[in-house]
Amino acid sequence: MFNRVALLGIGLIGSSLARVMRRDSLAGHIAVSSRTQASLDKAMELGLADSITLDPAKAVANADLVVLCAPIGACGELAKAMKPGLKPGAIVSDVGSVKAAIIHDVGQHLPNGVHLVPGHPVAGTEHSGPEAGFPELFKGRWCILTPPPQTNEAAIGLVTQMWQAAGMNVEIMDAAHHDHVLAITSHLPHLIAYSIVATATDLESHLQKEVIKFSASGFRDFTRIAASDPTMWRDIFLYNKEAVLDVLGRFTEDLTALQRAIRRDESNTLFDTFTRTRAIRRSVVEAKQA
Ligand code: NAP
Repeated sequence: MFNRVALLGIGLIGSSLARVMRRDSLAGHIAVSSRTQASLDKAMELGLADSITLDPAKAVANADLVVLCAPIGACGELAKAMKPGLKPGAIVSDVGSVKAAIIHDVGQHLPNGVHLVPGHPVAGTEHSGPEAGFPELFKGRWCILTPPPQTNEAAIGLVTQMWQAAGMNVEIMDAAHHDHVLAITSHLPHLIAYSIVATATDLESHLQKEVIKFSASGFRDFTRIAASDPTMWRDIFLYNKEAVLDVLGRFTEDLTALQRAIRRDESNTLFDTFTRTRAIRRSVVEAKQA
């Protein structure tokens, strides 16, 4: 599909994509750049890279496709650093969990004739680094592409084909809409998990021990989400601030309503709410997203 691909960042997502490219022979050459030599050496050892360099401009030289696989807050600087190496006609994509900020931060550094096709493979785990990746990560999940208006159709088509090869269903969406939807489905749940687990860490030590011991009663599932990478999630909240604050406002209103229902013994309110939410779970299972 591509003669030369450059992956800037080789953590969970970058290394999973590299594994797909290896498995399906999608790239003649995979050049990898990362922040540390240790990750580059690991990528080479795992057979994920044909060449490695700490210099993003060297990695992207002659690449048909560049995929930024670094934390959102690093993408603007990476784009600036890689700019001198980009060849005319190259496609630049990314995997960031927030899209409008990426289009702004990366887009401003791209020369005319380079095609920006931002993407978000909605698949992940709480693990990080080159060893955490696996090619089946993307299978059966959604990948959302948010190309700005007037983006080259052929470039969108190639990025679509790449994610389809990884087993993903691809949907095209406006970047702001993406950020709002993901604020509800992903960012808010993570914030709630971080908050609940942080509350538990502030408990007196005897209570903390009991929380760990009886965690299977619900807390355990929050701890998995709250173990997600701190850098990635810090960036998501800083770069999708407006949408997250909007859904957080709605959530706190609804939480207060439930608080009041408990205080007033409003059994119907509680029962009706929990019945509605149970139906949502069934829809998620039926959509094969469970
Ligand atoms: P990760 O496993 O922590 O890997 C991050 C990679 O970015 C590493 O190779 C790291 O290099 C590199 N990096 C970090 N800071 C950098 C900097 N300042 N400049 C250049 N490179 C830097 O992260 P990940 O989970 O793959 O996430 C990468 C992107 O995917 C994020 O934008 C995230 O929003 C998005 N995403 C993540 C998930 C998920 O569940 N994890 C799901 C969908 C999308 P070193 O190892 O050398 O430090």
